[in-house]
Amino acid sequence: MTKVYNFCAGPAMLPEAVMQQAQNEFINWQNQGCSVMEMSHRSKEFIALAEAAEQDLRDLLSIPDNYKVLFTHGGGRGQFSAVPLNLSQEGDSADYIVSGSWSKSAVEEAQKYINVNVAATTTSEDGLVVMPVQDSWNQNPDAAYVHYCPNETVDGVEINWIPVTGDIPLVADMSSNILSQPIDVSKFGVIYAGAQKNIGPSGLSVVIVREDLLDKARSITPAIFDYTVIAKHDSMYNTPPTFAWYLAGLVFKWLKEQGGVAAMAERNKAKSDLLYSCIDELDFYSNNVAPEYRSRMNVTFHLKNAELDKQFLAEAENAGLKALKGHRIVGGMRASIYNAMPIEGVQTLVNFMQDFAKRNG
Ligand code: PLP
Repeated sequence: MTKVYNFCAGPAMLPEAVMQQAQNEFINWQNQGCSVMEMSHRSKEFIALAEAAEQDLRDLLSIPDNYKVLFTHGGGRGQFSAVPLNLSQEGDSADYIVSGSWSKSAVEEAQKYINVNVAATTTSEDGLVVMPVQDSWNQNPDAAYVHYCPNETVDGVEINWIPVTGDIPLVADMSSNILSQPIDVSKFGVIYAGAQKNIGPSGLSVVIVREDLLDKARSITPAIFDYTVIAKHDSMYNTPPTFAWYLAGLVFKWLKEQGGVAAMAERNKAKSDLLYSCIDELDFYSNNVAPEYRSRMNVTFHLKNAELDKQFLAEAENAGLKALKGHRIVGGMRASIYNAMPIEGVQTLVNFMQDFAKRNG
């Protein structure tokens, strides 16, 4: 069988070694005679697993002690509602930075709960997407928080600097770039991420919240979305997504073995450089994001002749290169190359793209 490389944006491929381990212990985890997904979340074995996963995540991201780590439900979109419910009261206003499709969706959800001030949006300069410098943003000094999405999965736009917000809590949707490079967690009030890209399977979301932001949720906040309730119950107020938590724990261990997020950052740069160089060198392909805002995780590109899109995708699939179709909103192609994608996968894609261009250019 042809070796398959899966470029899906999410649920995305997981590290081969992790999948192998999960397969080996699928029906008999730790000699329990049953699967981890069949164990009580309150068993001492599962609690040990849960605590180890949290500690590994803390180690990987150097999460300071004054932050809680929550393993919860509801994916990224769940947090679009949980953030305003936990960090603001009725009548408050919050600043949102719109850099693509997901931050736009976050605005639409937040508007149900809060007055949203869109303080900045990406613009086009010489046909390329850029984020205006922060000095030009229209920030509200009384905002309850500032929300942004450092990596826009659909648009392939990554903001690689952290906005400065003073005393106003900064909230980041890191669903598609968490654990891809070191970050200074202390600059953030809340970081959240749906798991299905760089953490594990879907069904789990991780929230990292500064402790002074707890105890501020609105009274109407559903308990399962209330950061304080979740934190008080060690993320077990209701039954957590145990199998996803277990797999996330395996991914964290794998990341540590690989040298942690600093090593990942180097690999991710090498992978994305390789792919963007191919796109830039061949007139056959184009990318519309300014180089400093190009995502290292989701590389979007168009064929100059869109009539060849279908053929490109069919031939790629035959060559074992899966899920390269761009999101329906932007069209074209997208290669999602999260931590689990080896450089060999990107090299195979580049070889295919060069060959396809030569045959059809
Ligand atoms: N935010 C970002 C950046 C995403 O990429 C996604 C999903 O792909 C979401 C939010 C929504 O996540 P979910 O489908 O888990 O609600």
